[in-house]
Amino acid sequence: MSLLEEDKLRSLVVEGAKQVYSRGLVEAGEGNISVRVPDKNQMFITPTFNTYKDLEKAEIVHLEFSGKILSRGRKPSSEYQLHADIYQARPRAMAVIHTHSPYATMLSAARKTIPVLIEEQVIFLGGFVNISDFASAHTQEFSKNVIKALGSRNGTLMANHGCIVCGRTMKHAIKMAELVEKLAKIHYGATQMGGTVRISEKSCPMFIDEFEENFATHANRILQCEED
Ligand SMILES: [Zn+2]
Repeated sequence: MSLLEEDKLRSLVVEGAKQVYSRGLVEAGEGNISVRVPDKNQMFITPTFNTYKDLEKAEIVHLEFSGKILSRGRKPSSEYQLHADIYQARPRAMAVIHTHSPYATMLSAARKTIPVLIEEQVIFLGGFVNISDFASAHTQEFSKNVIKALGSRNGTLMANHGCIVCGRTMKHAIKMAELVEKLAKIHYGATQMGGTVRISEKSCPMFIDEFEENFATHANRILQCEED
């Protein structure tokens, strides 16, 4: 990898981290943002104890999916294994963002899924927002449960933890992280007003097609609707 390429990937992680921080989706010391190194079993990820505000390119950690650190300096986020496992399960995912954004985390603690409430959700995320079974962070079971809950979609809540999204680009992943939090707020608010009315995923095939063409990161499509 050339120095220029490495600089570009480090910049992408810093940009993603600052964007999610500025939108209040993460706080200092939580969440993590990564990009895949194209055609290699490697990634760049935010460091452990990341404070976001003053994050610099030099602090971003380069490591192999096995966990072997290739850069000097900071240690990677302790949740790096989840990112590595998602990249390995998702050939088209180039960026992963994990947040503990407040409404998504609230729903994850209440163990709620988010049905399809707006069509935008089908286009970017591929349908409803599922929730993974609980497992302690940093375990193989944790990754397994999250990947299972993702199904063919680009984002999921993680039981009693937060949410995670993956995209073909960092820009896509930022959009998805924002969207999951917006949906969690809508779901919470609508529930206070008497309950949500879901849209059937089967009733919007053109949006599923748009998702598949422009945003999907899965290897094999599994059509799994919440109403199934
Ligand atoms: Zn976390």
